[in-house]
Amino acid sequence: MARVEFSDDIVTFKCPGCGWTHRLNTDPEIRPCWSFNGNLDNPTITPSINAWREYGGNRETQRCHSFATNGRIQFLGDCTHSLKGQTVDLPEITGGGDE
Ligand SMILES: [Zn+2]
Repeated sequence: MARVEFSDDIVTFKCPGCGWTHRLNTDPEIRPCWSFNGNLDNPTITPSINAWREYGGNRETQRCHSFATNGRIQFLGDCTHSLKGQTVDLPEITGGGDE
């Protein structure tokens, strides 16, 4: 079962830690650029994925910093969500369509 989607040189997956959909460019003509092993079932993406945003009235920073390796995702200690410091399986993409 696929854990990531790949089209137009972009790897996409729903992150079990922060709940966002991470979109990662693999086209070397465009920066930033990640390396993807091409395996939808057991993806490895390098270097690390470091996503953040400022959120809410007090502009609190939310951060998701992770390594996706062989179908698992390791969250580093500087994440602001509850899976920080843990390694979990990337969820499988189920069902058909986006509805
Ligand atoms: Zn995330």
